[in-house]
Amino acid sequence: MKFGTKAIHGGLEYDSATGAIMTPIYQTSTYVQAGLGNHKGYEYSRTLNPTRHALEKNIAAIENGKFGACFGSGLAAIDCIIKTLNPGDEVISTDDLYGGSYRMFTTIFAKYGIKFHFVSMNDTSEIEAKINKNTKMIWVETPTNPMMNIIDIEAVSKVAKANNCLLAVDNTFATPYLQNPLDLGANVVMHSATKYLGGHSDVIMGVLICNDETIAKEIYRIQNSSGAVCGPQDAFLVLRGIKTLHLRVQRHCENGKKIANFLMNHPKVENVFWPGLESHPNYDIAKRQMRDFGGMVSFTLKGNKLDDALNLVKKVEIFALAESLGGVESLIGHPATMTHAAIPKEERVKTGVVDSLIRLSVGVEDVEDLIADLEQALS
Ligand SMILES: *Cc1c(COP(=O)(O)O)cnc(C)c1O
Repeated sequence: MKFGTKAIHGGLEYDSATGAIMTPIYQTSTYVQAGLGNHKGYEYSRTLNPTRHALEKNIAAIENGKFGACFGSGLAAIDCIIKTLNPGDEVISTDDLYGGSYRMFTTIFAKYGIKFHFVSMNDTSEIEAKINKNTKMIWVETPTNPMMNIIDIEAVSKVAKANNCLLAVDNTFATPYLQNPLDLGANVVMHSATKYLGGHSDVIMGVLICNDETIAKEIYRIQNSSGAVCGPQDAFLVLRGIKTLHLRVQRHCENGKKIANFLMNHPKVENVFWPGLESHPNYDIAKRQMRDFGGMVSFTLKGNKLDDALNLVKKVEIFALAESLGGVESLIGHPATMTHAAIPKEERVKTGVVDSLIRLSVGVEDVEDLIADLEQALS
């Protein structure tokens, strides 16, 4: 089955009670049992709820995985997979990482005795330099935020396999439509479904997908034992979002390309970071690993002045100044004062987050209007 068909039908059945074509919102905590131990597979909604269950099967189908698990947020999904580790275990993570993941690793799990190393994954040498007998997981995010670096998942998976550790990939930016890490050798895939999977900026949710039954059992055990599940209404919203994922992401990519090209040719723009540009340092890996290049575009301004960047985000009218990404509407952000404000200036500048860096989540509006908006704001 191809992607669009899987997005709409994958793992789903029509409701057996009524024939409803859309998965109903089973807004219930518990299920009546006909007798002791005699139930229809659902006992209590923390453990399993039919709406969430439908989404878990659907998300597994579109990531080419066997098992899916849904959580109350992207961070709750990450929390679950890190909880499969033990004190003394070590994780090697990309250094250009979602801020919330970095905060969880360094301020929550570090104090329970799990050790995190943050390295550049431009090639695998820095990973190999940190690997030892305690290394149990490699954590990859690609494309990275906000610099749009591309990490070679297949190359990292070879290092993980050779050293008996798991490879987990945060696939939020790419979406399952553009990139399927399980096919490239990853063991676990994570998404903030808040972003492209939901796609309409109306829900907070996270998901994990894997193929290995032993890992899946651990994930479901922790999901039930820690209890960070999503509610049925949110599961319904993400199921609905996924039905148009392929259509939306196609348009995000088309618009992203046109905007990246517009910015490349603008006299006030210094650098543009979009993996589909041939000038992008990881263009070859992106081309091999992704079906298209996505709608996230970052750029810097000539002169690199903070005031110019702040002026620009003030002057745009269609682009909304907001955190988050992946919704139908275009957003603009200023990483140095928003998502990356907590990182000391010296550190953030080293990774490329300079004062004039602007990040766009290009939406699915008519691109002529988006370009006109950027044009008037830049002038
Ligand atoms: C938003 C985001 C998360 C966290 O997800 P929440 O749903 O906000 O908890 C993790 N990773 C990436 C790449 C994200 O963009």
